[in-house]
Amino acid sequence: MYSWLHASLQQLSQRAAAYSLHHALLLKGEKGIGITEIAQQLGQFLLCANKPSLPQEDLGPCGHCQSCLLLAAGNHPDLYEIRSDKQIGVDAIRDAIKKLSGSAQLSGAKVLVIHDAHTMTESSANALLKTLEEPTNNTFLLLLSSHPERLLPTILSRCEKVALPSPTQQECITWLKDEGYANVDEALLRLYGTSPLVLIEHVKTPPKVNYQELVENLGYLKVGTADPAALAAKWQDEAITIVKWLQVWLVNELKAGQKNTEHLWQMHGRCVNANEQLRNPGVNKTLVLVNILQSMAQKA
Ligand SMILES: [Zn+2]
Repeated sequence: MYSWLHASLQQLSQRAAAYSLHHALLLKGEKGIGITEIAQQLGQFLLCANKPSLPQEDLGPCGHCQSCLLLAAGNHPDLYEIRSDKQIGVDAIRDAIKKLSGSAQLSGAKVLVIHDAHTMTESSANALLKTLEEPTNNTFLLLLSSHPERLLPTILSRCEKVALPSPTQQECITWLKDEGYANVDEALLRLYGTSPLVLIEHVKTPPKVNYQELVENLGYLKVGTADPAALAAKWQDEAITIVKWLQVWLVNELKAGQKNTEHLWQMHGRCVNANEQLRNPGVNKTLVLVNILQSMAQKA
């Protein structure tokens, strides 16, 4: 387990071994810190047939019982997972509840993991309420979310919330070094320094545009020697990254005590809106970028 999540996993495992783990957990934390990985480890521990008895310092699944072997092969019959790119629909929830209502195939625990639980629709969330409250015996529901504020209060109130820590930037650097990436770009570190799994993706496949290039072009936009439409066309594949970087740049300008704070905040607000728009799969990314770059080009 990642060093920054080790203590959290141990605490949860200790409680599971002592049969004092709540049956509905909301594992929440920043995107890219390894929420999925900790849920997988905890799920394996809950399902393991040879859970060590307490007290023991470093608790973990045995790795060789039938349950652990099935998990390693990726087809454990008592582990259910729901994930979706966009929204978790009510059918997926109903289907999972139906499966959970039967008895466990391996006569152990049953575990349901809901990835990105905040993407549940309102009817999905409502369909889950009763199971969250009174699950079948020896059943655990693990809701994972990097945006818990988007969950319905009725869901939140039925889960025990477990806040997972982000690594410090130094922990992040150490981890990347262990992964074989020693010299990580400063700008990337500043942007994703506490979301190591997001950061490593950027390190492995660097975006076609870098932060420095964006900052330079912002200067050209101001003096009218760069064309917003041309830049937007060039950067459209990286639209989400560009908007995120613009926000970072704006915040840096604000921190640096620039005088035109009102304009900067206004621009920041537009970036937030652009971010929302870009999440819509059908959106014209070039158009969103043109609009935002044009307004960046305007004098305060
Ligand atoms: Zn095992």
